[in-house]
Amino acid sequence: MSPPSLIDAHPNLAGAAPLALSYELFPPRSPAAAETLWTTIAELEATSPDYVSVTYGASGSNRGTAVELVRRLVQETSLRPLAHLTCVGNTPQELAEIIGELLDVGVRGILALRGDQPRDGELPADGSLRYAQDLIELIRRVEQRRSALLCAGKVAVGVAAYPTRHPESPSEAHDVEVLLAKQRSGADFAITQVFFHTEQYAQLLTRARRAGVTIPIVPGVMPLTSIRRLTRLGELTGVEPAPELIEKLSAAETDAERNRIGVAATVDLANAALDAGAPGLHLYTFNEHASALDVLDKLALPRPHRAGNRTGAARRGAGQQLAS
Ligand code: FAD
Repeated sequence: MSPPSLIDAHPNLAGAAPLALSYELFPPRSPAAAETLWTTIAELEATSPDYVSVTYGASGSNRGTAVELVRRLVQETSLRPLAHLTCVGNTPQELAEIIGELLDVGVRGILALRGDQPRDGELPADGSLRYAQDLIELIRRVEQRRSALLCAGKVAVGVAAYPTRHPESPSEAHDVEVLLAKQRSGADFAITQVFFHTEQYAQLLTRARRAGVTIPIVPGVMPLTSIRRLTRLGELTGVEPAPELIEKLSAAETDAERNRIGVAATVDLANAALDAGAPGLHLYTFNEHASALDVLDKLALPRPHRAGNRTGAARRGAGQQLAS
């Protein structure tokens, strides 16, 4: 038997790590949307998140706006972007180019996804990557080729995890096998799909740990304040919103009351995940900061103090005011 590790016995390592905080944004679809997005970015930046993720359209159609948003986040704010990337809609050659482009602008985190299959039933082109697992391997290959350029920080690769069965999967057990396979291919962490029942994150965590998944699984939580959004997301992801919550939101007589009900339900969901051992929270913002910040206020997550309170986006805003 080997002697106990001196590192394990070190008292400073016994405490829990700080909780991670992150947000999801999507690339703006119009100049007006871009303007409001930058207000949202400044508001979110003031909360010192650990990273913000930027979605990628599975058709590959928003490649330009996605990479541009990520580039501006790196260059104009203090935020660290996590760039989503999908197998669907791009050839492996194009994907290798995009990965290179992301690394060149300074990105060090990529969320490797398969992407949703096109609704018209069109089959993927010959030679395209089939699963997120293939994309992880491609990212690692590109990274390896650039090892000498990455001495000051390698790439963190994230993947999707599912508290409720993925619509194309035969079972939740299969989803966990897939998550384990993604870990073996080099995934460093996972972020979950939305979920609407307090016990679902804890159950995923139990299934995953039993199967040998050791990477952090961050719960993805959406502010549950909009009936339209909940219903639409339910259709897109196959995750059924809780009928009791929809009933309560429908019965609310004012927007303020609906917001209060939705924020309280979101806080319950987030607290249940944290109680189950979540290493942090990933908030789906839908490019709006108000509800996300309401949730954050109520949760009162301990946040590490970062030097320099003036954020990049706030600084840029002040600069613009001076110039105008
Ligand atoms: P995979 O892990 O490849 O799984 C896809 C399906 O194939 C599953 O049913 C799985 O069970 C099965 N499977 C996987 N590997 C194997 C295998 N080796 N053998 C047999 N079956 C297998 N979509 C976007 O288009 N853009 C985004 O920016 C985006 N961001 C997202 C962020 C998060 C946090 C999450 C949770 C989802 C996101 N999605 C996004 C949606 C995602 O693309 C879909 O859920 C998609 O249907 C599956 O993606 P995946 O990466 O989980 O795929």
